[in-house]
Formats: sequence, structure tokens, C-alpha cells
Amino acid sequence: MKLVFDEKIAESYKSASQKARVLTECWVDNEIFCPNCGCLNIDKYPSGRPVADFYCANCREDYELKSKQNGIGMKIVDSAYRTMIERLSEANNPNFFFLNYDLTNLAVTNFFVIPKHFFVPEIIEKRKALSPTARRAGWAGCNILLNHIPQTGKIFFVRDGRIEPKEKVLADWRKTLFLREEKEVSAKGWLLDTMRCVDKVGKREFTLNDVYGLRMN
Ligand SMILES: [Zn+2]
Repeated sequence: MKLVFDEKIAESYKSASQKARVLTECWVDNEIFCPNCGCLNIDKYPSGRPVADFYCANCREDYELKSKQNGIGMKIVDSAYRTMIERLSEANNPNFFFLNYDLTNLAVTNFFVIPKHFFVPEIIEKRKALSPTARRAGWAGCNILLNHIPQTGKIFFVRDGRIEPKEKVLADWRKTLFLREEKEVSAKGWLLDTMRCVDKVGKREFTLNDVYGLRMN
């Protein structure tokens, strides 16, 4: 896996946002393997498809790509709040790839996947609706709250410029699959909250009192 973007492919694009989209999408297409089956064949959907950006040609998992310059931050800006909430209960809800890059050396700093089974309504924050005078009056976007996702739900391929071994990525993914079995949204929310508490305690062994004493945001 190389971390530097191939600048040449974006030479013909003028706008910075288009350039960034082409560079990041191409990088994922060329460098990323499917965390579910290990297959190198991650392909891009034809553009304009509303549900996802990439799919695995082998196991058919879907992935949506979110990219951000500089730091990871606490939130990812996503599209329509309503669509996002409706999608949570659907079978074609995609997994999320998150790419964070450094614009000065055009290289990937962090890349991780958030498996779709970590998406519950609690991690989706509604943004303020557009004003009545706006063209799309009343439309509300949303944020994905990264800090509400337990550590186990962020599976890194690249962390702070370091590439993680493929076996580790695949093993980390497998460890989360039990959550797919939990179909009841409120039970899953409870399970994810508990996982966040355990992250916060930060010890291999702990008592219930350690957990009850926590203040969560
Ligand atoms: Zn796959």
C-alpha cells in the first residue's frame, strides 16, 4: 500500500474539491482491500448512485467514502438527516470508509472503516434545518458523531501515517460481526453504549463500580 496520491490523475480538474474527490476515490480504488473478505477488488459504483460509492466484487459489501483534510475531528458531515435515519434499518445501508489526508504532501494520514452495524440513531446528529427562504427550505443535513462510536467500531488500515497489517484489519473486522446479529435497534444502542463505557474505563479488568462511576457525554 502506498500512501501518496497520484497527482497526475487530477491534473485536468480545476476546482480543489473535484481534485480532492478524484484523488481520494482513486486511492481507495487502487489501494484498499475489502475488510470483510480480504479481496483486493473494491470497485467504484458509477457516479450518482445514492446509496454507496464502492462495493466489493467478491462479497458484495457496500462502502461509502468520506474524506477530510487535516485532522479527523469529532464529526463527519453527511447528507440528509431523514435519508440517513431511514437507511439505518435497511439491508443496503453501507459501511463507511473514512479518509483523512494531508494536503501539503498529498498523502493519507488516517484511513479507517466503520462497519455499518455500528450505525444507530444515537450517532446521527441533526443539523439545523435550512431557513424558510432557502431554495431547499426545511431540509436538514446531519453529522455522524465519531466520538459516539466505540474504538472497536473504527478499524484502521492507516493510523497516523502508519500502515496496519492486513491480518489485523481482517481480525478487527471479524470481532465486530456479532453486532450484525442484533437486529433490535434499542438493544444495539445499549450494547454500543456499554462498549463506549468499557473504552473509557481503559482497563482489561474492571468492576461494575468502575463503569457506574463514569460520566459519558
Ligand atoms: Zn469483500
